[in-house]
Parts: sequence; C-alpha cells; structure tokens
Amino acid sequence: MGETNCPTCGTQLCDGGKIAGRRDPGVHDVSICRGCAEILVLTESAHGLTLRPTTASEYLALPEDAQSLLRVAYLLVGRQQRLLRAPRQLH
Ligand SMILES: [Zn+2]
Repeated sequence: MGETNCPTCGTQLCDGGKIAGRRDPGVHDVSICRGCAEILVLTESAHGLTLRPTTASEYLALPEDAQSLLRVAYLLVGRQQRLLRAPRQLH
C-alpha cells in the first residue's frame, strides 16, 4: 500500500481497506478528500498507489456524471468545513 494521505491537508483517506471510499482502488480513479475537498487521482508510484491532486484537464476528461458527483461532493465537504469552523453564536 502506498501513500494514501491527502497531499494537500494530510487527512488519511485509507479506511478499512478502501482508499477514499473505494473498495478496489485502481490507477486513475478520481476521488475527493473529505478533509479539504481536494479532488484527487490515484496514480501508481514506486511505492504503490499514491494520491495527487487532479489536474484541470484530467477533471474535464471525466464523464459528465462523474464531474457532477465531484461537484456535489465538493460543495458538501465545503459546507461541512464551514460549519466546523464557524464560531459559535451563543446570543
Ligand atoms: Zn485534503
């Protein structure tokens, strides 16, 4: 198993044998970091599978339904992060 932390924020995305929610991760699978919403692609390296940020052209080469799923996931993670960071309004 290679490097499965998010290269941007360091969140560990390998979880019970799945990488970023995928049971059977393969090269060029695209996923999204649940910590910072970075869109990541799995690539093969000398050390095994590793994650790196997806380039714009890779993102645009994805099927349209995959792009919409990532857009939705991006919004959801962003909203969750804003909620976690928001100062508590007590009064
Ligand atoms: Zn991240």
